[in-house]
Amino acid sequence: VAGVACASALARSGLRVTVFENGRGFGGRLSTRHDRETGVSFDHGAPKLDCTTDQFRQWLESQEKEGRVARWNGNFATVEVSMEEKKCSVRKIEDETPKFVGTPSMSTVVKSLSSELPLDGRFGVSVKTLKKEGKGWVLKGLEKDKEFSSEVFDTCILAVHASRTADILQGSAVHDEFAKVAGEVDSIPSYAMMASFEKPLPCPSVFDHAVVKGSNVIYSITHDSAKPGRSTESDIWVAHATPAFARQHFDEDRNVVAKMMKDEFVRIMHMICEKDIPDPIVLKGHRWGACFPRVSEPLPGHCLFDPSSGLGVCGDWCAAASAEGAFLSGSSLANAILKLHEKGSKM
Ligand SMILES: Cc1cc2nc3c(=O)[nH]c(=O)nc-3n(C[C@H](O)[C@H](O)[C@H](O)COP(=O)(O)OP(=O)(O)OC[C@H]3O[C@@H](n4cnc5c(N)ncnc54)[C@H](O)[C@@H]3O)c2cc1C
Repeated sequence: VAGVACASALARSGLRVTVFENGRGFGGRLSTRHDRETGVSFDHGAPKLDCTTDQFRQWLESQEKEGRVARWNGNFATVEVSMEEKKCSVRKIEDETPKFVGTPSMSTVVKSLSSELPLDGRFGVSVKTLKKEGKGWVLKGLEKDKEFSSEVFDTCILAVHASRTADILQGSAVHDEFAKVAGEVDSIPSYAMMASFEKPLPCPSVFDHAVVKGSNVIYSITHDSAKPGRSTESDIWVAHATPAFARQHFDEDRNVVAKMMKDEFVRIMHMICEKDIPDPIVLKGHRWGACFPRVSEPLPGHCLFDPSSGLGVCGDWCAAASAEGAFLSGSSLANAILKLHEKGSKM
């Protein structure tokens, strides 16, 4: 989010921007997993966008008009699990914070940020180090397992999670101060269980998204199929693990971890609905190493920027542990860079 928000704001102002992305497309933690065999999709990263600022709301509403995002007036709840009593209670959350989702999937959110602009996206590039060359920057790393070195850019923006930011800067021996700030931000891991059922589960409308309390395994459950603009061909559920469970099972076989989470999901749903929960037709696991940064205090200006060297840093960890935080951070960095360009062109 942060990188594309920044890049698209710069491109909108006429600057030429190239984005190097490790994955196969833009999305990061707002990605959607598409199962090729069955054609079903899962929002396995952020299940929703919580919106607390006018800036983010205005952008979301502009995308809503284009049909790329939709307001999710879902049924949000807390599930209290008592394993001893083998009981679960569901309590509706009266939360006024507007919530949005990408349509038809969460990955549309980042795609829509980038779609209308002449952004040069280079995918499958893992940036490892930055090198100062003259007045510019060269990015080095791996492109599809082969050594890669970029052309020279006059400004370089790092929009990756905090520990990777610290690794890249330390490995490049540049900007110790920025590396130190990033290195101090810890991240919480998670694990996603993605399950698709042939028919709707026999417990309709108990909740669309719930934070689970009292389970050592599951932190939240989302009924993906209940989001606006989703296909109703199968019934899709995504559960996210507690940080402790994710840490404990992080390096284990993904199918085994997904099965453990599915068993807990079935136990919880069975306690709620008092009906048998069938086996899913698709079950997948995905691990998230850096799911949420622990942001104790937002950075001043929501980003880091050194005008003299042309190095900028943004990401959710600079502002708030949310997609909104990432959006604000990327947008702030773009403003700082554009101000510098304006000054330069007036001189
Ligand atoms: C399971 C889960 C649940 C969440 N729930 C919510 C929620 O309910 N509401 C909410 O608002 N937010 C939620 N979030 C958080 C939200 O998704 C993030 O805060 C936000 O997406 C972060 O955006 P970002 O741009 O800072 O980082 P990212 O989305 O992580 O983007 C960083 C990008 O950099 C790429 N990259 C990393 N390293 C390199 C490298 N070396 N070279 C090249 N590219 C690289 C990555 O592939 C990625 O695309 C959740 C996240 C997860 C994982």
